[in-house]
Amino acid sequence: MKVNKVPFLDLKAQYAQLRDEINPAIQQVLDSAAFAGGPFVQKFEEEFADFCGCAEAVGVSSGTDALWLALLALGIKPDDEVITVPNTFMATAEALSLCGARPVFVDIHEPTYLMDPLCIEAAITAKTKAIIPVHLFGQMADMDAIMKIARRHGLLVVEDASQAHGAEFKGQPAGSFGDAGCFSFYPGKNLGAYGEAGAVVTHNAELAQRIRLLRDHGQPHKYIHSVIGWNCRMDGIQGAVLSVKLKHLQAANEARRNHAECYETLFSCLPGIIRPVAATDAKHVYHIYSIRTPDRDGLIKHLDQTGVSCGIHYPIPLHLQEAYRHLGLEKGSFPIAERCASEQISLPMYPELTHDQVLWVVAGIADWSTTRSEFDRTESPP
Ligand SMILES: *Cc1c(COP(=O)(O)O)cnc(C)c1O
Repeated sequence: MKVNKVPFLDLKAQYAQLRDEINPAIQQVLDSAAFAGGPFVQKFEEEFADFCGCAEAVGVSSGTDALWLALLALGIKPDDEVITVPNTFMATAEALSLCGARPVFVDIHEPTYLMDPLCIEAAITAKTKAIIPVHLFGQMADMDAIMKIARRHGLLVVEDASQAHGAEFKGQPAGSFGDAGCFSFYPGKNLGAYGEAGAVVTHNAELAQRIRLLRDHGQPHKYIHSVIGWNCRMDGIQGAVLSVKLKHLQAANEARRNHAECYETLFSCLPGIIRPVAATDAKHVYHIYSIRTPDRDGLIKHLDQTGVSCGIHYPIPLHLQEAYRHLGLEKGSFPIAERCASEQISLPMYPELTHDQVLWVVAGIADWSTTRSEFDRTESPP
């Protein structure tokens, strides 16, 4: 098959493959009018809790809400400090800020792009209440080390597993290590809804109950409001779509892992390309396949000319965002996260990618890499 274009993500191809299962599932919700919460959400909650090896899953309206409600239900409050990483999506920090807490960032482990456990203890103060490790790009942070530190200091752990559905650390699923695990089902995620959705998983039934209360205006029963909550309910249609897609998640993750293996093999002989590292203890599910090169913008431009669309996750670390200027963190505060942010490129990565498309992406990068190293040779002295 001739390739002339590789989109960064192809949700239309995904729907085309699942259409015969998705359409009747949505039709069932329409026929039963269970639109907000209800039996389709409950069914998905049971399946997803099971998938994550947890007793409970609470479906909510987004990954951001999952993080916010989990932190709120765990008692995070104004003036608390919560440790997380600066190289993540804004929602990780926003959720704790919305509880009134203060983000305390720590730098990352360069090869894996994940929270560096060696940086955590220096960041702990009398005000520290929780750690939010982010399982970035589909790979879990070192949960052995993080849980050990959390226990030693009496801290809560909330996993941001929004990019790690089905990822494992030493054979144990993402979301099942900490006090709560938070997932986003934004359409482009490994498990994506057809709209907005999220979930919190936990082993703690009491915590799950508190989150159920908070997601529905603090109502234990209709018209009875025992606490001030909010509306963070999941749509019935999303519950039905997610139940269908959960059945295909393992196979979809395997397809991503195969593409990653292919990229890994083909890139290993290209100069100037730093490949992502999968830790031996982790099962990486490649939500994002991120490589690094010092001339990131040059490579993106070149690939664009060959019809390959790329992404950048994330160009500006959170401590350098305008929204967090009040923290007073200068450029240079987290050198590894900052260097990665300036060099990373996310390549096309999704289960429906064809082998020819993978080869096309690699050919584009090989082409660029060759011209660049020639350029480097003429510049450097003999
Ligand atoms: C997607 C994502 C979120 C937010 O999820 P939404 O469903 O978009 O609210 C939070 N954290 C990380 C790391 C994410 O990738």
